[in-house]
Amino acid sequence: MNIVITGASKGIGFSIAKIFAAHGHQLFLTSKTKKDLEQAVLDLKNAYPQVQLEAFAADLSIASEVHAFTKWCLEKTIPDVLVNNAGYFLPGNIIDAPKDQLASQLDVNLFSAYYTTQDLVPSMIAKGAGHIFNICSIASLDAYENGGAYSISKFALHGFSKNLRLELQNKGIKVTAVFPGAVYTNSWSGSGVDPKRIMEAADIAQMIYAATQLSPQAVVEDIVMRPQLGDL
Ligand code: NAP
Repeated sequence: MNIVITGASKGIGFSIAKIFAAHGHQLFLTSKTKKDLEQAVLDLKNAYPQVQLEAFAADLSIASEVHAFTKWCLEKTIPDVLVNNAGYFLPGNIIDAPKDQLASQLDVNLFSAYYTTQDLVPSMIAKGAGHIFNICSIASLDAYENGGAYSISKFALHGFSKNLRLELQNKGIKVTAVFPGAVYTNSWSGSGVDPKRIMEAADIAQMIYAATQLSPQAVVEDIVMRPQLGDL
């Protein structure tokens, strides 16, 4: 399968790239910082020498860069799997947040997925098959302490994912919303949280991979995952 992953250089996105590489799939990866993406490509090639992968760095908070990435992608492939994972967490409250905080969270956490999907999905519809994963968060489901703009952006991504599911259900394309609780990635390093208290990025990747293994007539609509000891 051809697997397109945004935010693939580290954390959850990198783990998703690893599991698909391990199973012999072809990868098309993007993330913002070119040198980190190049390092991720090297690491994947070292770990999985047979892997076929290509990468294109783009700041997906900027619509023109999303379009440059999707144009590059469509010149090379029609995605079988698209993982809209790029995102970041800016802590803050609504009442005293900087004026541009919500817009910048929406740019990365919502619009990157929205425009990437809009650009790539016609090719998937033409093929009549495909699977889109949107990496939401438990902050998409409930208010989140210090969540503010992040939680609002992740609720919006959830709404996007639900509407996309409805639009695509008769077109052979599956849509899965993924709602992880705390996962030990860069966002948590330096926080003092014990890595064993929360989930591993590989846990999320395993569930995503498993969801791609069902018959064409079955879809996993939602994947909700939490640390065994509950939310922090
Ligand atoms: P991470 O380790 O910080 O990795 C984030 C990835 O997204 C990186 O590859 C990063 O590239 C890329 N990215 C960020 N902003 C971007 C932009 N403007 N344009 C293109 N790429 C961009 O984060 P993570 O914890 O794995 O999170 C991945 C996703 O899971 C996010 O959507 C996050 O909200 C969600 N999530 C995480 C947790 C958690 O506890 N970790 C829980 C629930 C949901 P650069 O480093 O180059 O910017």
